[in-house]
Order: sequence, then C-alpha cells, then structure tokens
Amino acid sequence: MTSYDVAIVGGGAMGSAAAYYLRTLQPDLSVVVLEKDPTYEYCSTLRSDGNLRIQFNLEENIRMSMYTMELLETFADDMEVDGWRPDPAAREQGNLFLVEESHLESAEEGMATQRGLGCEVEWLDAATIADRYPAYRTEGVVGGILGPRDGSIDPHAVMHGLRRNAIRLGAEYVSHEVAAINTAGGRVGGIQLATGESVEAATVVICAGGWSTTLARTAGIELPIVPIMRTVFVVDTEVDTAGLPSIFLPGGTYVLPEGHRSFSMARSLPTDPIGFDFKFSRSGFEELVWAEVVRTLPGFDRLTVTGGWNGVYALNTLDGNAILGEWPALDGLFLAAGFSGHGFQHSPAMGRYIAELITGVEPILDLSRLGPGRIISGEPLFEHAGRII
Ligand SMILES: Cc1cc2nc3c(=O)[nH]c(=O)nc-3n(C[C@H](O)[C@H](O)[C@H](O)COP(=O)(O)OP(=O)(O)OC[C@H]3O[C@@H](n4cnc5c(N)ncnc54)[C@H](O)[C@@H]3O)c2cc1C
Repeated sequence: MTSYDVAIVGGGAMGSAAAYYLRTLQPDLSVVVLEKDPTYEYCSTLRSDGNLRIQFNLEENIRMSMYTMELLETFADDMEVDGWRPDPAAREQGNLFLVEESHLESAEEGMATQRGLGCEVEWLDAATIADRYPAYRTEGVVGGILGPRDGSIDPHAVMHGLRRNAIRLGAEYVSHEVAAINTAGGRVGGIQLATGESVEAATVVICAGGWSTTLARTAGIELPIVPIMRTVFVVDTEVDTAGLPSIFLPGGTYVLPEGHRSFSMARSLPTDPIGFDFKFSRSGFEELVWAEVVRTLPGFDRLTVTGGWNGVYALNTLDGNAILGEWPALDGLFLAAGFSGHGFQHSPAMGRYIAELITGVEPILDLSRLGPGRIISGEPLFEHAGRII
C-alpha cells in the first residue's frame, strides 16, 4: 500500500458511496478506503434511525432524498453480490411533521418547494390528525405535514451494499487509522497512518463522520463540526403502532413506530455531551424527552423505557448542512462531512457528487451551494428560519 489516485478516510455510508461511484464513473482510478474500525461498531451510519424523508426546505436536500428513493426501488437487485442481496427493507410508513402556528409560514414554504419538485405531501389539520390517527391526538399544534413516501430503511443493508459493490468494482478497503493528511505547497500529497507509514494520493476525501474535525485540523483546516452524542430511547407503550406514521414534534422530539407497541424516541438536547461516550444511559428521559411527547401527544402518558443506544452526530454548527467538495485553499482535499441528522439518507447522492467532482463528470445534481466556500466566508445555508435540524 504505497500510492493511489484517491484515498478515502472513513468507510461508512459516505465513504462507501464515494468509493462505489468513483469506480463506477472511472474504473481505472485506483481508490483506497481507510477504515479504522472494520467492525463499524461506533460509526454513525449503523447507529442511525435510518429515516428517509422528502420533507426538507432546501431544494438540494429534497433532491438528494428523491435520488435515494429512486435508488431504493432496485437497490437489492442492483447491489446483489455473489448471491447476497442487500434488502434495504424500506418501510414507507410516512413521516408526519407537526406544525405550530409560529412555524406555519416556513412549513408552507417547504411544502410548496416539495410539491414544485413533484413530491407528494399532504397537509392535515389537527382534527384530521386526531380522526385519522387517534393515538396521535395532539395538543398545541395547528396541524401537520405528512410525507406518505417517507419512512425507514436499513442502514446496514445500504452501507454494506455500497461497500461490497465498491470492492467488487475494484476499490481497496484497508483497516488502518489515519493520523494526518500530508500536504505540501498548497496541495494534498497523501495521508499518514497511525503506524507512521505514509500513503501517497493526489486526492484525499475526508468521510470520517464525527471524527472529521480532528483529521481536517492536521491539514490546517478548522471545521465547524462538533461530535455530539445523541441518545435514542426505545419504549414500550399502550399505543398500537399499526398504520401509524413516524411523528416529529415541534420541539424536535421524534417518535418512530417500531412494531407492536414499541417506539423509538430521541431529541437533540442542549445538554447532549460533546465527545465519544457510547455508554447508554436512560437518565434525563422523563424531563427532557417524555415531557415533550406527553405534552403534545397525551396518548403516550404511560410507557416503559426498555433500551436504547448512543450515536455520534457530526453537527455542523454553522448551518446543520453537509460540507461537500474541495477545500478552496488546498488542492486535492475533498470534504464530505458535517451532515448533522440527515447524512445517511443523502449518502448515495453525496457520494455520487463527490465522485463526479473528482472525475470531472458533469454532476447530475447541483450541490454546489453545499460547498466548503461557505465555511470560509461564514455564510450559513439554513434549512429554514435559521434552524439546524
Ligand atoms: C442516533 C442517530 C440517529 C440518526 N438518524 C438518522 C436518520 O434517521 N436519517 C439520516 O439520514 N441520518 C441519521 N443520522 C445521521 C447519520 O447517521 C450520519 O449523518 C451518517 O451516517 C454519516 O455517515 P458517514 O459515513 O459520514 O459517517 P460514519 O458512519 O460515522 O462513518 C465514518 C467512519 O470513519 C471512520 N473513521 C473516523 N476517523 C477515522 C480515521 N482517522 N481513520 C480511519 N477511519 C476513520 C469511523 O470508524 C467510521 O466508520 C443519525 C445519527 C445518529 C447518531
């Protein structure tokens, strides 16, 4: 392992999508993916909720979700390798975003953009929600937006489908921790492994999830990406999940039906610790999560926490959106990081875009507004109304 055209740091959903599309677009490109943990125990991809939605306000985010939805239709067939079929187990149970009076305007803007792009979304007033989903009788909201094609997909199937196909097409995966990016004269020269060994590469892509900031710093780049621990709680309730969409409350808590009477619930909290402590604790659930759930959805007044897990959110504190593309002051260094809460569902489109930039192919989606230039100029690209979601 001495010299490659492209070295990708991180082999999660993002790194694997980039490797897959690089080898698809340019089969003679030598591509190595460096992954420090081949078990993927702590990567965000396998700790995500696997939710997929078209309910964004930014056209780029909507189009990336549409790309994934289309890909999923034939994913198992397209990604079959040696008889192994990665079934994304898509569940189109729908996502229902509740709306308070104060956010009605931006919700309507989002709906107009989504419909303008041909997406299916439905406005339900509070009475209709209670009528259609008695378990979701609401308090304090004017209504909600239902994306009937939104839902959940299996992160394991998608990530390993892309990974195995990247390997099938000739990308090399190696188990090594990257310690630093090597640079000289304003451009990238490769990477240095934790073992001290150097690997030459004219192009390096940082896809290291919550670990990206530390790595970029070795190249003199300060990214506004903070690794924040997010806890997901699994609860047993008295509510039957049958026919229910996932529901997103105005304060940020989401409640995902998992089958029978079980739901998962989570929320970004100001108290979420920065760092990599993956030990699950149920402390704070009652005051910080359940309090909002039961205030908005009185039907959830009785439940039991049965488990949960922690994962790392690579939070882009500038605007909550992906940082995608070549760093302007360092030729050959590409970033695909800072996805906050929606990187898994967008990884196929983002991987394709990064591969298009590297190979010089005309991008099928214009994601240039997500480029790293806005980090340098300090100009955020918010989803809506300055909110980071
Ligand atoms: C609890 C939770 C729920 C979420 N729910 C959703 C959701 O419903 N929908 C959605 O779209 N997104 C969701 N997300 C966000 C999503 O998980 C991430 O945006 C996405 O998985 C990021 O993929 P990635 O490949 O960039 O990062 P990761 O999956 O974290 O992969 C990065 C990889 O890089 C490796 N690595 C790091 N540093 C180095 C190094 N120095 N050398 C070598 N390898 C290195 C790591 O080991 C890791 O495997 C959620 C996140 C969390 C934490």
